[in-house]
Amino acid sequence: MLDTAIIVRGLRKAYDAVEAVRGIDLQVQRGEVFALLGPNGAGKTTTVEILEGHRDRDAGEVTVLGHDPERGERALRERIGIVLQSTGVEPYLTVEETLQQFRGYYPAPRPLDEILEVVGLIEQRGQRVRRLSGGQRRRLDVAVGLAGDPDLLFLDEPTTGFDPAARRQAWDLVRNLRSLGKTILLTTHYMDEAEQLADRIAILVAGEIVAEGKPDDLIRRDETSTIRFRLPSGVANLLEAIPGEIALEGDAVTIRTPRPTVVLQLLTTRATEGGIELDDLTVTHATLEDIYLRLTAGQVGAD
Ligand code: ATP
Repeated sequence: MLDTAIIVRGLRKAYDAVEAVRGIDLQVQRGEVFALLGPNGAGKTTTVEILEGHRDRDAGEVTVLGHDPERGERALRERIGIVLQSTGVEPYLTVEETLQQFRGYYPAPRPLDEILEVVGLIEQRGQRVRRLSGGQRRRLDVAVGLAGDPDLLFLDEPTTGFDPAARRQAWDLVRNLRSLGKTILLTTHYMDEAEQLADRIAILVAGEIVAEGKPDDLIRRDETSTIRFRLPSGVANLLEAIPGEIALEGDAVTIRTPRPTVVLQLLTTRATEGGIELDDLTVTHATLEDIYLRLTAGQVGAD
């Protein structure tokens, strides 16, 4: 068994003049949850479709579970599961009938009860698809992706449109799959989701990977802290010569700085000397979302 589920080197793909993927390299280890992040039009879908064998590449090397997906080999198709944003399932079939139909396409399908259990649809097994809630429908999509008992699962935006409780359930589902040893390639627009679920992430901007690593490492590598408080009146020199990037919105002050201790000392000394309280004072480290927004600045909604 190879340890690496996906290897991509120098991948390129253009649609006429649009260079959607401009030379990316990535590796996904077996048993890992890997999240591909990036603004609209960054090239995520193109990359994932190439890995799934649904789109040809212009250049580069791609190996998925030891196969080149471009060859369309059945041996590979049987070992990957794909959960798109909407799956074509019959609304009048029951959950069980739907799964039995998909299980029938594979030589060694996963047992029905195990699939229902892992996605949390045991109670809905006899229910017609059209009567499922949005969250249950999405779980059925994942169940369909698991029908063939794949080693590698592609999950495209698994929680878009979910309420907070349904999102938590979907996260538990992904964790369940991970504990079964599945490799998961996830695309998502939610940074908290990536932080919660992914062992590693890659941020794609305009067809290139601009950051890659464990979420914690990416966060730790960023040394910016954010200090926030309400601007009091009566301390004229409060913000003078503060080493940091200062933004003022109404009376809300935001200071971004790699040296929060120095900034806090200056601020609190001045405030104390003026006998003034810094209301709502907080110091926070950069979040994955802060890092993402900085890396993708000017790119959001590019298409
Ligand atoms: P989103 O988050 O919106 O799904 P994405 O990161 O998945 O975006 P892609 O769908 O891969 O991005 O698109 C990358 C670029 O390629 C975009 O500029 C898009 O308009 C273009 N593109 C994608 N598919 C095609 C196609 N079939 N024909 C022409 N251009 C395309």
